[in-house]
Amino acid sequence: MATPGIAVRGQRSLLRQIREALAGGGPAQARLDMVVQIIARSMVAEVCSLYLRRAAGDIELFATEGLDPGAVHVTRMLPGEGLVGEIMRLGRPLNLADAPNHPAFSYRPETREDAFHAFLGVPLLRGGRAIGVLIVQNRTERVYTEDEVEDLLIVAMVLAEMVAGGELMSEEELKDVEIAPNRPERLKGAKFADGIAYGVVVLHEPPVAPSQLLADDVTAETERLRIAIEALQAQIDHMLDRQHGLVEASYEVLETYRMFAHDRGWNRSLEDAVRNGLTAEAAVERVRSEHRARLGQARDPYLRERLHDLEDLNDRLLRHLAGDGHVVRELPDNAILVARNLGPADILEYDRSKLRGILLEEGSAASHAAIVARALDIPCVGRLPGLRDRVSEGDRVIVDAESGETYLRPRPDVIRSIQVRIEVRAQRQAEFARLRDTPAFTRDGAKIILLMNAGLEVDLDILRDTGAEGIGLFRTEFQFMVAEELPRFTAQTQLYSRVLDAADGLPVTFRTLDLGGDKILPYLEAEREDNPALGWRAIRMGLDRPALLRLQLRALIAAAKGRPLRIMFPLVATVDEFRAGRALVDTELAWALRRGRPAPSRLDVGAMIEAPSLVWHLDALLPMTDFVSVGTNDLMQYMFAADRGNPRVADRYDPLSPPALRALAAIQKACAETGTPVSVCGEMAGRPLEAFTLVALGFDQLSMPATGVGPVKQMVLSCDRGAASRGVASLLKQTGGSVRNEIETLARKLYLSV
Ligand code: PEP
Ligand code: MG
Repeated sequence: MATPGIAVRGQRSLLRQIREALAGGGPAQARLDMVVQIIARSMVAEVCSLYLRRAAGDIELFATEGLDPGAVHVTRMLPGEGLVGEIMRLGRPLNLADAPNHPAFSYRPETREDAFHAFLGVPLLRGGRAIGVLIVQNRTERVYTEDEVEDLLIVAMVLAEMVAGGELMSEEELKDVEIAPNRPERLKGAKFADGIAYGVVVLHEPPVAPSQLLADDVTAETERLRIAIEALQAQIDHMLDRQHGLVEASYEVLETYRMFAHDRGWNRSLEDAVRNGLTAEAAVERVRSEHRARLGQARDPYLRERLHDLEDLNDRLLRHLAGDGHVVRELPDNAILVARNLGPADILEYDRSKLRGILLEEGSAASHAAIVARALDIPCVGRLPGLRDRVSEGDRVIVDAESGETYLRPRPDVIRSIQVRIEVRAQRQAEFARLRDTPAFTRDGAKIILLMNAGLEVDLDILRDTGAEGIGLFRTEFQFMVAEELPRFTAQTQLYSRVLDAADGLPVTFRTLDLGGDKILPYLEAEREDNPALGWRAIRMGLDRPALLRLQLRALIAAAKGRPLRIMFPLVATVDEFRAGRALVDTELAWALRRGRPAPSRLDVGAMIEAPSLVWHLDALLPMTDFVSVGTNDLMQYMFAADRGNPRVADRYDPLSPPALRALAAIQKACAETGTPVSVCGEMAGRPLEAFTLVALGFDQLSMPATGVGPVKQMVLSCDRGAASRGVASLLKQTGGSVRNEIETLARKLYLSV
């Protein structure tokens, strides 16, 4: 008698047998029956059964060899019920010598399976989610070997892809199983970049297609895998070696990578999968699925973090297998990019003219991807867990970033209504464009200066289109975030020059590097901190490592080449910090002059007001500064002690509430009294109702994302500032929380477009 499992490793592998059998076509049920028969024969099992999860949640027997055929499509388990439910829940194999004695065993008379003692069940995993269970059983009590478990896992992986790919069941039937890619669905996520788009799904990392799952030549495939793993290990080692220099680097993260990359267990699992007939890519996906299923359930944040590392490592390995992974994909028109998460440079690699929207499983509104999406005006919704399992390439989807939702495979009525909304938005954009050259005066004659926030080269192209009167906040750290390595003096100077060229005489306020917090550079791994938002960031980092800051100041002075220059320091918490920053500017200016380089024709140095401490020391600060800018994103985070990147608290407190508005009013008043120019450059300046409130408080310079300029200008043109100021002043005295509703009522009474 053949040893169980041996057939899989034989000349004609089990996978090949399945594929050949299916090549003949035939009705769906007959194909499923054939698959379980082949597996049973090949594994020398008396029973082989396939269960799949129905869309309603219960798990149904779809095919069996060995159990009573009358049980097919009759036997159903509720989620979590029986051994099948247990495997689905755990997402990993169950290998039992005596299944009927297991506490979770649930006997179904129609199956007559109590005669079978040995039981091996493995989950059908797709993207880390169990969509079904594959089981083999034998009469006699025995424990299946590790090789047998591995074999069945591989078969299950292939089956999962076949089921999802529609190879094993009719389209009708597929609609009703849990992986059903055809049902319309609506998912609620978080809004990362405003707008609405309708288009077709393009997966950022397309999964391995079933046709690529099986290797033609196992020896050659093993060699491919070996070379890719070695290249990956060398890459990680190299990254680690490069960690030296300007910022005191912590090696922790990369060390973990290195540990995983060289991990024998990981490598062996991959090799085993290839030896069993999978392509190297399929092997990576197989092992990845298992890790996801295992670690994805972990509550321990440390373990979940490790899963993240492993995911990244898998992606890197796939890139090595693909050559270098830098194959930029051709996009269809109206592409909606779907990804787990994106790095800052990823979006920029795609053809902007075809990219209409982005959907992410993870991320936060403050993430790099969100920042880039906003800069490019691409609607983006994030925090949609499980999204990648629910869509296939080419699916139609709607990105509704106005409400933070996505509609997968929407029904025609939903498409029609979204098209109307897209049309209305386009009309509004056209109205804003018509206002481009109209100066922003309120109805009672106050001039409001509307400026744009920028940070990427792409922003420069749209500066003129927005009608903004300059750049009120240039986030210099973006160049660092999208670069592969630290931008050198020349690269920095070149960018700043291009910004000034593009502004063509309009003022540009360069903010010095605001790194740390949520803005982490891959090549300058900073030490992990418990509270990064309260940690070593922005000017703190700049003053402690003056070489980096001085290099930037030098580049700014060189780029100005005799033109006016405006420099601003982020997150200043004490007047001493500002004084020290300003002294570095003076040092660099003197350095340039000593070398006969031209000084800027005018040099303004300012501070961002983001730390509440500074609000109470404006009398000391303002005489030292040429201007200030209120960074309300951070100021509100620190005032309300609510992490701006944490969705549970980020929107909990309203800047349109007495304490926040009083602080803003106090800043405005102190600046007016000392004649210090002041702007507001947080996101709230770009939202019409908030901007209305700021104008009412007396601010007359607002800097905002490009998309805010049109709507805010429309508001300004319809605003009577005198009446607005009186109305808002009375609201500052309110004893309750948010006064948003009251401000909205006021705005409506004044016939405002907010
Ligand atoms: C702010 O904090 O309001 C700000 C403009 O800076 P950033 O969003 O870049 O932290
Ligand atoms: Mg800030």
